[in-house]
Amino acid sequence: MTNSVPTLTLNDGHTIPQLGFGVFKVEPTETTRIVTDALEVGYRHIDTAAVYGNEEGVGQALASSGIDRSELFVTTKLWNDKQGTQSALDAFDESLEKLGLDYVDLYLIHWPAPANDKFVESWKTLAEIRKSGRARSIGVSNFLVPHLERLLTETDVVPAVNQIELHPAYQQAEVTAFAREHGIHIEAWGPLGQGKYPLLEEGVVTAAAEAHGKTPAQVIIRWHLQTGNIVFPKSNRRERMAENFDVFDFELSHTEFATISALERGGRVSAHPNEVN
Ligand code: NAD
Repeated sequence: MTNSVPTLTLNDGHTIPQLGFGVFKVEPTETTRIVTDALEVGYRHIDTAAVYGNEEGVGQALASSGIDRSELFVTTKLWNDKQGTQSALDAFDESLEKLGLDYVDLYLIHWPAPANDKFVESWKTLAEIRKSGRARSIGVSNFLVPHLERLLTETDVVPAVNQIELHPAYQQAEVTAFAREHGIHIEAWGPLGQGKYPLLEEGVVTAAAEAHGKTPAQVIIRWHLQTGNIVFPKSNRRERMAENFDVFDFELSHTEFATISALERGGRVSAHPNEVN
C-alpha cells in the first residue's frame, strides 16, 4: 500500500508524500505505539511539533521500525516562544535530538505569533538551518497573506509549504490562492474538521461515500487529495489509520467534488493566527 501514496514536488525540488499521519494530541506515553501502528499500516510521512511533547515517542517508533530513513518524511515545528535566532537554533537542535534524527525533512514555524514580531527573523534562521542540510525543506504554518507577504519581501526564501486549518467547510480561498501563485504547497490541518465540525454527517459526503462503498472520512480525505492538499489525518485507532490510508482506489466525480466544495461556510474551528502568540 505504501507505494500508492502520490508524492508532490516542493519548490525546492524535494518530494513529499501527499498523505501522512499527524500526531497532535497523541499522548507522549502512547506515541511510540501509535506511530508504530501508523508505520505498519503504511504511512511514511509523520507530522509532529515540539509543542506536542511527543517527538521522543515519534523518534522511538521510527528507530525501531527498521524502515530506511530515506523512505521516511518527518516534519516538526518551532514553537512560538522559541522564535528568534539563537533560541530557534537551540529549539531545532532539541527537536532533532528528541527525534533521534540527524535531519528532518521539513521544519516549520508553527504560528506567525505576530505580537512578538519575530517570524521574519525566525524565517531567516530556518533558512540557515536548511543551508546546513539539517532540514531538507522549510515552511510555515498558520500564516495569512500579510505574514507571507512579509517573508517574500523581507527575505529571498519562499516557504515550501504553509500548513493551515483547512477542510471543505473552511477552504481559506485567499491564502490558498496566494500560496498557489507563489509555488507554496498547502498542508491542510484539521482535515476532517477535528470532530468540531460535523463534516462526516453532511449529506453530500455520506451520499458520495455510499456511491463508492467508502466511508465519509475517506471521501473527505479524497477531496483533499484531489484538491492538491497535503494531508495527515490523525487517529489513535489502528482501524481508522488503515481506513484513512485506503483512499487510492476511487475518485470523486467532478459533481461530487463540486458539491463537497460547496460546503464552504467560512468559519475556522480553531484560533485565529493573529491571536496565538
Ligand atoms: P483531524 O481533522 O485529522 O481530526 C482528528 C480527529 O478525527 C481524531 O481525533 C478522530 O476523532 C477523528 N477521526 C480520524 N479518523 C477518523 C475516521 N476515519 N472516521 C471518523 N473520525 C475520524 O484533526 P487534527 O488531528 O487536528 O489534524 C491533523 C494533523 O494536523 C494533526 O495531528 C497535526 O499533525 C496537524 N495539526 C497542525 C496544526 C497547526 O497549527 N499547524 C493544528 C492542528 C493540527
